[in-house]
Amino acid sequence: MKTIDSYDFTGKRALIRVDFNVPLDDAMKITDTNRIDAALATIRKVLAGGGSVILMSHLGRPKKNFEPKLSLKHIVPYLNHVLSLEVKFADDCMGESAKTLSAGLKPGEVLLLENLRYYEEEEGKPRLPETATDDEKKAAKAATKEKQKAFTKQLSTYADCYINDAFGTAHRAHASTALVAAYFPNDKMFGYLMNAEVGSLNKVMKEGKKPFTAVLGGAKVSGKIQIINHLLDKVDNLIVGGGMMFTFIKAMGGKIGNSLVEDDLLELAVNTLEGAKMHGVNIILPVDAIAASAFANDAETRIVKAGEVPDGWMGLDIGPESIALFDNILMNSETILWNGPMGVFEMPSFAEGTIQVAKSIANATQKGAFSLVGGGDSVAAVNKFRLADKVSYVSTGGGAMLEFIEGKVLPGVAAIEAE
Ligand code: AMP
Repeated sequence: MKTIDSYDFTGKRALIRVDFNVPLDDAMKITDTNRIDAALATIRKVLAGGGSVILMSHLGRPKKNFEPKLSLKHIVPYLNHVLSLEVKFADDCMGESAKTLSAGLKPGEVLLLENLRYYEEEEGKPRLPETATDDEKKAAKAATKEKQKAFTKQLSTYADCYINDAFGTAHRAHASTALVAAYFPNDKMFGYLMNAEVGSLNKVMKEGKKPFTAVLGGAKVSGKIQIINHLLDKVDNLIVGGGMMFTFIKAMGGKIGNSLVEDDLLELAVNTLEGAKMHGVNIILPVDAIAASAFANDAETRIVKAGEVPDGWMGLDIGPESIALFDNILMNSETILWNGPMGVFEMPSFAEGTIQVAKSIANATQKGAFSLVGGGDSVAAVNKFRLADKVSYVSTGGGAMLEFIEGKVLPGVAAIEAE
């Protein structure tokens, strides 16, 4: 496999799939530049190596072609600023401008293509009216797949090599994230962000040193069951917190009051607990909880035993004994994976469990453990409590990260790794 560090970019045009799907305000100003900033190292590497760059991305979910609010032209001023150059812009990723501008690119120059998703070919999914019949849908799907081949081929003609640095869309088998790689069998590679993401995930999921502890939280068991199943033959300890703990506690005969529960998953919870036993995995459930009289920050609260939430009350965080129990396990772990908050951390009254688990993970990391935090709310939590730089790696790719830890093959990763 080629790598960005060993590849000779001299005189080469690099087609880079980036994730510039950034939030814009009503004045079309970028409100969070993180995703763009994360791609800069890769862009700079190609330019410093004597190459030129063609950037391609999606922005939002356009429902029709050329929705002005979702144009990538809004990104150009910021790119000019951070790269200290004049970025060229092709106002149609399939049009004459894209062809001529890419053909004329000189070393050191950067071209940004207009939103790939203006074309339904990017995702390979036809945009049909809701009234379309099943037959019409089937025919349109086949036609779009066919058109997608031409779209992908067209993208490939713009460049000499292909770099995928868009981890956030690596779980999608789209033209720019996966299919185009086939046109560059000897000239395809990961960018630095992809390298870091895939490297960190592999370090945990494939090469994780023991003891390996996974901490799962968040609202629902249903959203995490595939992760749990995939982790059972990998981890030594599985800590379960958040709203999902109550489905397990109820399944074991505990009283949970009005706490969040998925009654249709009680049997599955029992099976999971048994499966864990068979795999020799230690499942650790909270022993106490913060019960509240209502779902509100100023509700009355009490510390209760986890299986003794009074009628009319609901568990909204883990309690102090659980915090100590989890800390002890985390401090004795060499590899840690964390996904999902321990309680309703958005409300200060129920944030303590999440804060303390984040701190335990930070302390274990300082002691030498490798820790990976990923998936929406746990990332929000480490950022909110300013602990992001105290863990080994914070994944930027919500859906892609979750699919990776569910054991799924990510098409964007596989396309680069394929011989
Ligand atoms: P998820 O998207 O499944 O990771 O869930 C994250 C959400 O779970 C956050 O918004 C939390 O507020 C919520 N959550 C965590 N613990 C609880 C709980 N005990 N009861 C209700 N919601 C919870």
